[in-house]
Amino acid sequence: MTDPARTIVTLDGPAGVGKSTTARAVARRLGWRYLDSGALYRAVAFALLDRDEPSDAWRALDLEALDRLGLTVRPDDEALTILLRGRRLESELRTQDVTAAVSRVARIPAVRRWLLDTQRHAGSHGRLVADGRDMGTVVFPNAGTKIFLTADPDERARRRLGDHGVTTPSPDQIERERLLLTERDRVDMEREVSPLVPASDAVHVDTTELDFAAQVDLVVRLARAAASG
Ligand code: C5P
Repeated sequence: MTDPARTIVTLDGPAGVGKSTTARAVARRLGWRYLDSGALYRAVAFALLDRDEPSDAWRALDLEALDRLGLTVRPDDEALTILLRGRRLESELRTQDVTAAVSRVARIPAVRRWLLDTQRHAGSHGRLVADGRDMGTVVFPNAGTKIFLTADPDERARRRLGDHGVTTPSPDQIERERLLLTERDRVDMEREVSPLVPASDAVHVDTTELDFAAQVDLVVRLARAAASG
């Protein structure tokens, strides 16, 4: 039997580098499932903020307390659906409050442990495109295709502002957004469990000047080669 990991593609990299848009497009082209692991961490952050307790208490969270949050994840054909007490979470995961809190939540070891099985389950039959920070290093270390995306921080800030509808940002807006992104990267890189680092066997792709379609083509080509190799 072929190893399911051969048909797993991981895309890791810093904030705002275009991982999600690339991963989603690659998954659609291949007809494989898309795993947005950042959305899982955001969902835990949202559920914790929703409980309205001081963030100092988060460090003491254990697996049982996480079970009680009321979060469930359904692996659908195209992607994962995240529910909080039966209510589907989508735009709630992209608010400024969640974005500001998520890296503090993602460095809690129990949270990472709690989400590990959910992520691995999503890829248990292969045919998965997963994006995040530790997809190629920790969650799917045997993935057939590993990509590490990078881009110039100002360009990442411009893209992130563009996602929020700011098409011609001022230098001040770019500067502010860049500081937010790079601060999140710092916390993600410096944490003890599963820090943001490239896997030793990842292909590095700098997207600063790369055309989006070319970027997607490249990853699809590598994924097809790994799947048939
Ligand atoms: O990718 P996104 O910006 O949605 O991720 C939000 C945050 O979730 C990241 O800044 C990081 O702190 C955390 N994360 C993580 N490991 C992953 C994916 C996301 O720690 N695999």
